[in-house]
Amino acid sequence: MNDFILNHEPAIRLSCFFGVFAVMAVWELLAPRRRLSQSKGRRWLNNLELVVFNTALLRLIFPLAAVGVAASAELNGWGLFNRVAAPAWLALSASVIILDAAIYLQHVMFHAVPLFWRLHRVHHADLDFDVTTGSRFHPVEILLSMLIKFAVIVLLGPPIVAVVVFEVLLNATAMFNHSNVRLPLALDAVLRWLIVTPDMHRVHHSHLGHETNSNFGFNLSVWDRLFGTYRGQPEEGHVGMVIGIDTFRDAAHCVTLRGMLGMPLIGKLGEYAINRRDWDRREKGRGP
Ligand SMILES: [Zn+2]
Ligand SMILES: [Zn+2]
Repeated sequence: MNDFILNHEPAIRLSCFFGVFAVMAVWELLAPRRRLSQSKGRRWLNNLELVVFNTALLRLIFPLAAVGVAASAELNGWGLFNRVAAPAWLALSASVIILDAAIYLQHVMFHAVPLFWRLHRVHHADLDFDVTTGSRFHPVEILLSMLIKFAVIVLLGPPIVAVVVFEVLLNATAMFNHSNVRLPLALDAVLRWLIVTPDMHRVHHSHLGHETNSNFGFNLSVWDRLFGTYRGQPEEGHVGMVIGIDTFRDAAHCVTLRGMLGMPLIGKLGEYAINRRDWDRREKGRGP
């Protein structure tokens, strides 16, 4: 089983990626939630070029990938589940849940630390929100995320299958919850008790600072509720809200591959994702 997964991991992940991508792309055409503000062809070409570039870079730098690290951990007896005998179902489900919590915390960190926000704002500077936004990350953020994942795997010692399940799930849910699809509101309300829905994650792509700094989850919605970062709906409504960052509205920066790769170098270091002025304005508006 493990050998099969290790040998076929790239094929498993790629086929899931293309399958879910195709479903969401068609769904967006049939039932879009918002009108796109940019040319879809140009945005998609550049976002997908970044995805291909990142995938190639990851394979080049970390050819063994996260499953390879999980296999080494198992071989060397590293990490919790390689030391403590636990039933397979428990090790699998706990590993997937703990990995998801780690990704949530990592996402909060990428907003809270100014140097990391420079990288992560490439994801937020997308001027529209659709299935391609879900995979749009600066290559350095992708590499850092992978190193963090390696560290969690070495400490946790998850079963190899748990790592594959987690990565496929994260990839699929990221495409789902970034997609520009209209779900019936009642269904959205039920689903978001368990997973992050497109309406829930869209709030995170609002141009308003206090909304950007909410709904950090990518997979399970419980972390935002548990850690106090949950925000139900955007103030300006899903159709009227502005997607992106107020200081990055120029398509030359936000849409082109060149602009995205160079974006971390723009501006003075020290800018937080937390827009202080925005917070001040809100607090003043509330009165003493
Ligand atoms: Zn974010
Ligand atoms: Zn996002």
